[in-house]
Amino acid sequence: MKPSEGTKPLYKDPSQCVEARVEDLLGRMTLEEKIGQMCQYTKYPERHEELVRAGKVGSLFNVTGAEQTNEVQRIAVEQSRLGIPLIFGLDVIHGYSTIYPIPLAMASSWDPEIAKKAASMAAAEASSEGIHWTFAPMVDIARDPRWGRVAEGAGEDPYLGSAMARASVEGYQGENLADHDTIVACPKHYVAYGGAEGGRDYNTVEVSERTLRDVYLPPFKAAVEAGAGTLMSAFNDLNGVPASANRFTLKTVLREEWGFEGFVVSDWNSIGELVSHGTAGTRAQAGKEAVKAGVDMDMEGNVYQTTLARLVEEGAVSEETVDDAVRRILKIKFKLGLFESIYTDTGLAAKVIQCNEHIEAARDFARRSMVLLKNENGLLPLKKDLKIVAVIGPLTDEQDALLGCWSCMGKPEDVVTVLEGIKNKVSEETEVLHAKGCDIQGDSTEGIKDAADKAKASDVAIVVVGESREMSGEAGCRSSLDLPGIQEKLVRDVCDTGVPVVMVLLNGRPMSISYSAEHVPAILEAWHPGIQGGNAVADLIFGDFNPGGRLPVTFPRTVGQVPIYYSHKNTGRPPTSLLYTSKYIDLPSTPLFPFGHGLSYTQFDYSNLMISPKRIAPEGKVEISLDVKNVGDREGDEVVQLYLRDLVGSVTRPVKELKGFKRIALKSGEKTTVKFVVGQEQLAFVNRGMKRVMEPGTFEVMVGGSSEDVKLIGDFEVT
Ligand code: BGC
Repeated sequence: MKPSEGTKPLYKDPSQCVEARVEDLLGRMTLEEKIGQMCQYTKYPERHEELVRAGKVGSLFNVTGAEQTNEVQRIAVEQSRLGIPLIFGLDVIHGYSTIYPIPLAMASSWDPEIAKKAASMAAAEASSEGIHWTFAPMVDIARDPRWGRVAEGAGEDPYLGSAMARASVEGYQGENLADHDTIVACPKHYVAYGGAEGGRDYNTVEVSERTLRDVYLPPFKAAVEAGAGTLMSAFNDLNGVPASANRFTLKTVLREEWGFEGFVVSDWNSIGELVSHGTAGTRAQAGKEAVKAGVDMDMEGNVYQTTLARLVEEGAVSEETVDDAVRRILKIKFKLGLFESIYTDTGLAAKVIQCNEHIEAARDFARRSMVLLKNENGLLPLKKDLKIVAVIGPLTDEQDALLGCWSCMGKPEDVVTVLEGIKNKVSEETEVLHAKGCDIQGDSTEGIKDAADKAKASDVAIVVVGESREMSGEAGCRSSLDLPGIQEKLVRDVCDTGVPVVMVLLNGRPMSISYSAEHVPAILEAWHPGIQGGNAVADLIFGDFNPGGRLPVTFPRTVGQVPIYYSHKNTGRPPTSLLYTSKYIDLPSTPLFPFGHGLSYTQFDYSNLMISPKRIAPEGKVEISLDVKNVGDREGDEVVQLYLRDLVGSVTRPVKELKGFKRIALKSGEKTTVKFVVGQEQLAFVNRGMKRVMEPGTFEVMVGGSSEDVKLIGDFEVT
């Protein structure tokens, strides 16, 4: 029975439950309006007004600002037939206006709590400008640093990646999606996008189902378990079936196995691109494949808008399939409270955007995410009262690069450069000499002599090198991992002066800096650290903050070692000095810097490994504890890392896998006990019969300060 004129329809009644409201609204919608909810467009002023009024748009993205979003929302709510609000999306990746370190850097903190805080602050800023939905976190595992999007994720490891994924989702979404300062998360890009052949973006991905389940899927599962409301299907072809039409990953795994109830949005035109992939002959077929696989919303492809009604009329797609998609979209809209809190308070942004708390956090997160790669003879920290310090390199006075890829509303002019950070830090008497030396790219050597001369005239030279913003992120793939342009020549010439050199790397990926690793005494990996990056670098190199970050990804010696990751298999012939073993004849088998590596200005002592019980049944749990003591003379953070190896399996198992970590802060002389509990969740893997099980046998326990710096060894048995 239709409600009579004048009565408030049930779906507009907030006292009703979400399910009832969804069903009521769905029952009133025409097929066109339903399809409209499944369409998303980027900012398109001349077009979206009319489409929105006609109820043909479910979401817009890249529209920002309370006034702008309110204006379009008014058309949707007050001028369309059913008044369904739009959901406004945006890539809020590592901050909205206050830009925090890139996600790879945040993962280097090994501190999911700060990833959660950064996401929550970004959500508060974004929602104050009318945004409801972020296309984040990117939880793709990346084992090929040529792939530019390695910068956007948490690195190579599924365990660390899952912890970061969970934390980000919790941070963006908060306790309740309806709160005014939370936004809905969208883990992406589902799935195995990071496995692109040759590290080339959008490229083909071939991974076995076992590797998919053991390596690429876990961070998505963690994000779904943390309550992510949406998910993005990827561009790539996965084992012959494009991810945006992949029923196995989207239906079998996501919906049936994990019980995901949110909605799936395609990546930008990834439905239309099914035609280029060659699994659809026409756009209509592409639409059919995608909707049937469970892609609920078409981002910018305009495929659903133009083909879906006809497909339904012809019976190629059932109206129930459309209804299911729309149900899932509407459900998120109701959960976000969009039907109640329709407009954004235009006074809100001024209170939250770049507020002191966020700026201070940007500095703190950056400090916590930087990794001290090398510190020969304790060159760092430097004294603040140096007589003369030379600050050299193309990234010294650079603002843009520090924002990193996907810098949302971040502005270069808000960035504190490394040069500024250093000037803010040193004593008034210290003279700071500055020379750019060379460009980030290009081959002009003109400035190098001046730089070397300035270095020579100084007590210490701080050389700031790395990559520009565009050199990582989407489509920012590189075939070389070396310092771009002639930056290495600059480093060499400065080193040749004999002055002590501190190298600061600002970049979005692991880099093959073999020369520097051998010849430069101190190296700080600062990544693309966000708007407070320069202050954070200075805090670390002048000792106001003790570095505690660790690499979430392996640094290769040369690009030829790629893919190189710590949790590799043993092979039948692990590398030795013998010829017929698995290695290159022209390179050591080890990486330049291993996963988990990072130094501190203090030292830690590990002792007293206890494993209890030593034998467990398959449903049991083992407690692993150990003592860590700060034996140096200053306060510092250690990241205690637990690795396990399943010695014999029905299928080959990695030589070690991270299964626990804790970042702890200890004062000089302080000791603490760190505990890990492992069971089914950490020990199970996909066995020969493709079932996820925990197999009986011995597990080796390795605890230490990196994947190679193992300090304590033990074992336990599963019976
Ligand atoms: C990227 C996504 C992003 C989307 C919207 C695509 O090109 O792959 O990561 O969320 O654009 O901006």
